[in-house]
Amino acid sequence: MLHEELRQKLIDTALTMERYGLIHMSGGNVSLRVGDLVLVTPTAMAYETMRPEDIVITDLEGNTVEGIRRPTSDLKAILYILKHMDVKVVIHTHQPKAVALSLVADRLPLISTTLVDEVKDEVKVAPFTISSDEGMGIETVEHAGRALCVILKNHGVMAYGKDLEQALCAAVYLEESCDVYLQALSTGRPIAVLSREEADAEDAPRGYYGQP
Ligand SMILES: [Zn+2]
Repeated sequence: MLHEELRQKLIDTALTMERYGLIHMSGGNVSLRVGDLVLVTPTAMAYETMRPEDIVITDLEGNTVEGIRRPTSDLKAILYILKHMDVKVVIHTHQPKAVALSLVADRLPLISTTLVDEVKDEVKVAPFTISSDEGMGIETVEHAGRALCVILKNHGVMAYGKDLEQALCAAVYLEESCDVYLQALSTGRPIAVLSREEADAEDAPRGYYGQP
């Protein structure tokens, strides 16, 4: 079986997404590009009982190279992102705070150091597209900017990055930031947004955070 360890890492990532409330049951998906191959979670299967052999490996056109299951129904959108952005991982979630924000705003502005550190920039809300359509991928590429996430209006989130950890962190901290922003919005008071200078200062390398 190709990439057995990586297959398990995809499942572990999906289980972490579930633990943080970003998905439920079989919702969302995780994809990882390795060269010209893509490992993807299968469609309509609960992560809790998923096994490495349930992960599907496709080529960049979506043809199954190895696997006994049908890949995620969002595969076309995911492949579009992997082919048009310099990223290796795409995570799709239905995280409720981000979806709630998409109903009332067109972006999550730079509201906190967490957002700058983990998501890299303000996050745009892409227009509605039906699920499982390549349009989800096209709109993600269109609205990505410097951020590691795009919110899909009335649907969920596309988070992406150089590896599983980076994309997962972006999705988790996006949800935290959406929660903070929605709470602030609900007061009806003006929102204090970081300036570009403040955000750039926060984003500049300082070499302390993290273990050596
Ligand atoms: Zn979805």
